Amino acid sequence: MGGPAPISTACPYCGVGCGVSGTVGGERTVAVKGDAAHPANFGKLCSKGTALGSTVSLAGRLLVPEIHGRPASWDEATALVADTFARTIAEHGPDSVAFYVSGQILSEDYYAANKLMKGFIGSGNIDTNSRLCMASAVAAHKQAFGADLVPGCYEDLDLADLVVFSGHNAAWTHPVLFRRMEAARARGQRWIVIDPRRTDTAEGADLFLPLAPQTDVRLWNGLLAWLDARGAVDRAYVAAHVAGFDAVLAGLGAEDQSLEAIARDCGLAPETVAAFYDAFAESERTVSLFSMGANQSAQGVAKGLAVINAHLATGKIGKPGSAPFSITGQPNAMGGRETGGMATTLAAHMDFSPAERDRVARFWGAPAVAPAPGLKAVDMFEAIHAGRVKAVWVMATNPAVSLPNASRVREALAACPFVVVSEAVGVTDTMAFAHVKLPALAWGEKEGTVTNSERRISRQRALFPPPGEARADWRIIADVARAMGFGEAFPWASSADVFREYAALTAFENDGGRFLDIGELAGLSDAAYEALAPIQWPVRDGQGVARLFTDGRFQTPDGRARMVPVRPKGPAHAPNPAFPLSLNTGRVRDHWHTMTRTGLAPELCRHAPEPMVELHPDDARAFGIETGELAVVETAVGRAVVTAKVTDRQRPGGLFLPMHWTDSFAPQGRCNPLVEPHVDPTSGQPEFKHTPARVAPYGETWRGFLASREPRDAPAGLELVWRRTPYDGCQVHEFAGRGGAEEREAVAAALMAGAQGEVLALDDAARGTQRRAVIEGGKPERVLVMAVMGDLPARGWIADRFLDDALALADRVALLAGRSAATVDVGTMVCACMKVGSYAIDKAIAEGCATVDEVGKATFAGTNCGSCRPEIAAMLKAAQPADKESARHAA
Ligand code: SF4
Repeated sequence: MGGPAPISTACPYCGVGCGVSGTVGGERTVAVKGDAAHPANFGKLCSKGTALGSTVSLAGRLLVPEIHGRPASWDEATALVADTFARTIAEHGPDSVAFYVSGQILSEDYYAANKLMKGFIGSGNIDTNSRLCMASAVAAHKQAFGADLVPGCYEDLDLADLVVFSGHNAAWTHPVLFRRMEAARARGQRWIVIDPRRTDTAEGADLFLPLAPQTDVRLWNGLLAWLDARGAVDRAYVAAHVAGFDAVLAGLGAEDQSLEAIARDCGLAPETVAAFYDAFAESERTVSLFSMGANQSAQGVAKGLAVINAHLATGKIGKPGSAPFSITGQPNAMGGRETGGMATTLAAHMDFSPAERDRVARFWGAPAVAPAPGLKAVDMFEAIHAGRVKAVWVMATNPAVSLPNASRVREALAACPFVVVSEAVGVTDTMAFAHVKLPALAWGEKEGTVTNSERRISRQRALFPPPGEARADWRIIADVARAMGFGEAFPWASSADVFREYAALTAFENDGGRFLDIGELAGLSDAAYEALAPIQWPVRDGQGVARLFTDGRFQTPDGRARMVPVRPKGPAHAPNPAFPLSLNTGRVRDHWHTMTRTGLAPELCRHAPEPMVELHPDDARAFGIETGELAVVETAVGRAVVTAKVTDRQRPGGLFLPMHWTDSFAPQGRCNPLVEPHVDPTSGQPEFKHTPARVAPYGETWRGFLASREPRDAPAGLELVWRRTPYDGCQVHEFAGRGGAEEREAVAAALMAGAQGEVLALDDAARGTQRRAVIEGGKPERVLVMAVMGDLPARGWIADRFLDDALALADRVALLAGRSAATVDVGTMVCACMKVGSYAIDKAIAEGCATVDEVGKATFAGTNCGSCRPEIAAMLKAAQPADKESARHAA
């Protein structure tokens, strides 16, 4: 007799779209492992997927609707949303309202929201946070292929001889795909990485091109000129299947395409550029991956087109192991692109031509299909700021953190007359501005579908019943639509009903001209929908199509792909001596977006526990900054205070800041208020990779930390830099100030206020240390440590005491000392899955482990998901003596 049967579902994090097998236990727990049958991951998961079981608690969830902060019934909240939107539309027109949605919602949710906005409200004003991730790739696909079509599939990554990573740190952002490519590499696949930062992906590459910011187009255009000059263009393929080749080639003549000139402009050595060009020309099977590093740019579309041009000119497309391949960030960014969640698409890969509007209007029975594309994300919040949009509904996203110039976004939301937020969690930075909060289902509760980066549709299935009064997003939207008087068009009783309607739309009056066609799934029974196995679109004869363009036919009127001339442009910003550095933003390995989910899993918070700025040693010297100290990063629009990390992985002149931290984790460490809202003129995707910036020491005079059972805000009225890191059993708050003893006294008084139980204290005036421990019921309730000089004790041992049933007498004293005599610090958490810190790995290497596998055998690090293997490899490399290293290279 077994326990509950495992349920197959999909990971809610990145665009790899791994299958997850969840076995539900008691008290709302789930044991998670990779779904061995899922073709995206064949049983593997990365650290984020592995830790999903730590994120399903109901703590901190929004479980009932709220109106102006008070609990409300669904009827009341639905009526208020419907009435306010209807009244706003009646008074100010359809374009006075907007939806801002998310790559976290399911395709069924997207379809419902899009149908309501574009079909029945009659505005194009629905856009998705995917605008921030891959809108440039979408625009490039449309121009080159006639529609937003991803040519390749993951199998191409197994089959390629050469993989080019263009602005794509796959080791951190798409770890399971990276594992797949590591296996191919063991069979002889070569890797070339093009990135201003020496990422973990670059560390393991055969060739690394640390190009200067914003020179990607120059580099890829140069490749095309080089291919042509050496007769490496596939003339037969171009003649049969491509238009625009001659115009593109003619455009290249406007610049010096010599290796020396390209190398100079890109900040590279000529031989490095030549090695890239040789490898591309010589490799029959080449995949060029491009992701946020290319897309998040004011010239993101040109970057995508430049990559695609090289593939079209050489016929490296539509063949096994060959494709230009845009990898999406979010779990269902692709679903949003397909259903119509972007302001620039009407629905199901149809746009706004009269014929397409008419077709969609007849299918929906819609009276007022949107006449034109709506506002893209950045423009949408500008319109809210300007008062043109007066009611906005934000679904499952956190624009107050994630959009550029996020402080201005907050001003916009604060001034907006009506803000609705549908959310699973109870507190986000955006929800502070909501007039109405609607409780939505979270991962593990939702039913529906997502599409991953290779066009594969997978089911997300519920592991738990809906908690409290939370509802599916599609249902919340349909209820509002009914309350607005559109009931006949929103009759669905289940996510299966919504999916069948969307599938039918893809096939409606589709004579093969639209590649997105899953019409065969429109007749799925409820049981067949429930059992739906992962399948790629288009679906033909019951099978998913793995690879597009295999017959050389594209979705253009003449069936030919388009090569589009693109010219390198300078940065969007004029040089500014006041801001001499270039700020690049991105992600860390174990966090996802604004931490609303990964912030619940302590094991994911230990690899990069606090916001930091990476800078090159030359810049650190020039600006007087050292690793571990606080640094102020400023741009023309914002300021952050973060911990400095000096590393030669960063280019001189560049800064890197991760985007995850929010008000509730690090109020001074938010990244996106620093980003100026420059966008690509076609895609509207913001430039997150290059903002003029400067850096300076913060000048803290003391530091401290507070471990407490509950999260705490910084004491009011004091100028402290404040960060919070969740641990098992407690929250550790790190802080620092620039004042003296008086400031520390005030901090101690504020943080000890209201303490119940026994208070232990130890002060050392000579060293400026103050330590307090509050013991309640035999357990620690708070531990406070502040110091002017010297290191603070390691947090791990103190945090672990919050898990003890009762403190031993010796541990009470040790709490004030900061550690027991028997305890050693584990260092930085390298392996989140097996909880192995850097010190254990250093020790294993010192004792003779020479490979990642040997370190794994000695410490278990890297033996589960493998996300930390590149970091262990880097530690091994760094530990190698220079003579051994050069001998290895010579060999
Ligand atoms: S690679 Fe990791 S985050 Fe991405 S889908 Fe797979 S398990 Fe989830």
